[in-house]
Amino acid sequence: MSSPTKIHHLIGGEWVGDPVVELLNPFDDSVVSVVASGDADTVAEAVAAASEAQLGWAARPLPARGAILLDAAEILRSRHRMVAKDLVREEGKTFSEAFGEVRRAIDILRFFGSLGWREVGEVLPSATPDTMVYTRREPLGVVGLVTPWNFPIAIPAWKMAPALIGGNAVVIKPADLTPLSVSHLVTALTEAGLPNGVVNVVNGPGSVVGEALCTHPDVSAISFTGSTGVGHHIREVVQGRGARVQLEMGGKNALVVLDDADPVAAAQVAAAGGFALTGQACTATSRVYATRGIHDTFVAALAEAAAKIVPGDGLAEGTTMGPVVSDAQLSNDIKAVEQARADGVLLGGEADGRLLRPAVVTGLRADHPVVTEEVFGPMIAVLPTEDLDEAIGAVNSSVYGLSAGICTSSLASAQRFAADAEAGVVKVNRPTTGLDLNVPFGGVKASSTNTFREQGSAALDFYTWTKSVYLGHDL
Ligand code: NAP
Ligand code: MG
Repeated sequence: MSSPTKIHHLIGGEWVGDPVVELLNPFDDSVVSVVASGDADTVAEAVAAASEAQLGWAARPLPARGAILLDAAEILRSRHRMVAKDLVREEGKTFSEAFGEVRRAIDILRFFGSLGWREVGEVLPSATPDTMVYTRREPLGVVGLVTPWNFPIAIPAWKMAPALIGGNAVVIKPADLTPLSVSHLVTALTEAGLPNGVVNVVNGPGSVVGEALCTHPDVSAISFTGSTGVGHHIREVVQGRGARVQLEMGGKNALVVLDDADPVAAAQVAAAGGFALTGQACTATSRVYATRGIHDTFVAALAEAAAKIVPGDGLAEGTTMGPVVSDAQLSNDIKAVEQARADGVLLGGEADGRLLRPAVVTGLRADHPVVTEEVFGPMIAVLPTEDLDEAIGAVNSSVYGLSAGICTSSLASAQRFAADAEAGVVKVNRPTTGLDLNVPFGGVKASSTNTFREQGSAALDFYTWTKSVYLGHDL
């Protein structure tokens, strides 16, 4: 058993603040880390340090900024297993899920580091003779990042890397449950030579530290991923002071299964999307609309897939589903299980401490809370549907619009669904979860501000603004 890691804030290149809050492993309640807890003054110091560092950082040649991200990727890679193990102990997912998430963070640093060598603007023809027009991408200044616990290293990486390559300085407020993963990420960046103050970390409660970051007048932009309720509050606060805001929030991701699909393959797609990561993914499949000819065989295959899942310690051999992250999340999951049992037919859903068996529920009405509200646990509601038209109507009846999937062997049905589904991501014969890091990501409707996309080169649009330069060359 390793001893608890002490986690400080990072301000102006110094690790500061007494570690006071113990964080426990969701599997066995062992102490994983002891973390400092900041307040509005800590945030003010971090923002001041970021402001001081930002111009110097932005003045560095882009390839030099990129080189630091590339070096940080190598440092993280050299600690891949150790960081993944800490992620398991801190957040609870399985080792292979955590290993994949750390690989994602490494690849994100590589992707954005390599953009240091890519084009940065456009050259455009001018209507005026002897004039060249080009665009520059300018940094925003100091950006604030507020991140959730469910992808504790990948989400901070996919916000931080484009912010840094764009020439910004960063203050990040990690989720209170998962500061250790963020500290591994920023340690790799500082060891790679990131100048002091370019990335700062302030730990502590969202209602104090997150709030102070969002209201600080010197923070030019906030990128937030988390729940819809907190997101809407942040939107009001940040837009109210005229700063830029990007919110990626909840989902109620649907999968449509048509009669022409293979029921076993479709069940595997649903199980991977709904039960991996203990159902704690923003893009997790949580409702399925199956046409009547396939409904019963699909439900049987899904129940069989669910029964094979082995909940347990994420670090133990053979575990295929880690514990629920916290007691607060567990009580939310259990409430959904009880509602499902009361109003429908439930398979699975038994809890043993924070280990929850994956659940499949049928027989619920379309307006049941388990069908309409985000649970964020390993539970899939399956509803019968008449045809593709009715299914698309059901998918789009949600207030959310993050990810949507369809299992079908008909190209026409797949294309029709891709066109008509109200979701930022559409998957055909693939789980609603799982994203390529070079592809724009974000939701529509209540899932997102739907202004800027994350990930891929599109992520740079949020972290920069475009200046147009007219260069007359006849004087
Ligand atoms: P959360 O409770 O909304 O918290 C997200 C972050 O906001 C945390 O760092 C939190 O700090 C902070 N926060 C809380 N109150 C705040 C305030 N008043 N001002 C500023 N910041 C504040 O979300 P979560 O429970 O960590 O994560 C689960 C949710 O994230 C789910 O709803 C899921 O759908 C969503 N999610 C969405 C995506 C996506 O890309 N769309 C991806 C992953 C997760 P504390 O931790 O200290 O409370
Ligand atoms: Mg929370």
